[in-house]
Amino acid sequence: MNIYPDLYLDSVKNISSELLKKNNIKGLILDVDNTLIDYYKNLLDGAEKWCKDIKDDGIKCMIVSNSHKKEKVETVAKKLEIPYILFAKKPFKSGFIRASEQMKLAPEEIAVVGDQIFTDVIGARRCNMFAILVKQVAKKDILITAVKRPIENLVIKSYLKRKGK
Ligand SMILES: [Mg+2]
Repeated sequence: MNIYPDLYLDSVKNISSELLKKNNIKGLILDVDNTLIDYYKNLLDGAEKWCKDIKDDGIKCMIVSNSHKKEKVETVAKKLEIPYILFAKKPFKSGFIRASEQMKLAPEEIAVVGDQIFTDVIGARRCNMFAILVKQVAKKDILITAVKRPIENLVIKSYLKRKGK
């Protein structure tokens, strides 16, 4: 299985509606931890404006998080004014499929956006969705993620090498 993302960007804010339309993407499935908020639950600077602009351009957005912390995820979802799914068990397919049904979009029309290869990118691949890997908002991770990070960095390194960067 291909475990590489389709795009590797510095931040969700680098995702423009032009870029999405070029790839026939009509909806975004957004990760929360380290993608939209940092370890201390601070929302990424400018995330609200970015999300509003993208929605105004007709792109549907939805949060799909593995977190079970309702208050934390709901706070982000309310600020961005988008729906959310908790405890999604990424990289398993169920959360992604529920999101695509709610958005009424085909898998090929959806891009999964997240900071982790093993949950976000592999989950997207399994569902035939477009995969956008972003750099983590802050360097600090919860323990389980910290353990996986060195392996992910190797995968990213090899991805960049393949792309000739
Ligand atoms: Mg994450």
